[in-house]
Amino acid sequence: MHYIKTAMHPHKKIALVAHDNKKADLLAWARYNRDLLARHSLFATGTTGGLLERELGTQVTKFQSGPLGGDQQIGAAIVDGLIDFIIFFWDPLEALSHDPDVKALLRMAVVWNIPMACNRASADFMISSPIMDGEYERLVPDYADYRSRKLPGVPTGDETPETASAD
Ligand code: PGA
Repeated sequence: MHYIKTAMHPHKKIALVAHDNKKADLLAWARYNRDLLARHSLFATGTTGGLLERELGTQVTKFQSGPLGGDQQIGAAIVDGLIDFIIFFWDPLEALSHDPDVKALLRMAVVWNIPMACNRASADFMISSPIMDGEYERLVPDYADYRSRKLPGVPTGDETPETASAD
């Protein structure tokens, strides 16, 4: 696998999401880290974003509420290179209507090598890292081979008349 170096600038685009039972935790964490968060751009699912704006007195770009598609919007923003990392306090003790979306968001973060903290201790370690306020080269897998993979039984379009299948 080859990797493509993707610059992560000191001013980061941080996505924050908290499930209902974890919102108080996230708000307390954000309040404690208010000064640091003020140096970055914040994105969030709808309800989490509204609460953060009120708590921090700062602007948060809000997607839809999670169960209405907000997690998927953040996943798509990751794919488009618009998010640098995620603080995602998901609830490990409750099944939610949008569990498939939660899993999809976690998956996108791994596919694109996005740092992701899923609890308060991880979030503390992540934001206190020496590379938090500096440049960082994120290694994103080069998916070119995957995109141009050959599919069994599907013509590639490169066939000559001689090599093309008779059927
Ligand atoms: P919310 O969504 O911030 O709109 O509550 C979070 C979630 O449940 O994914």
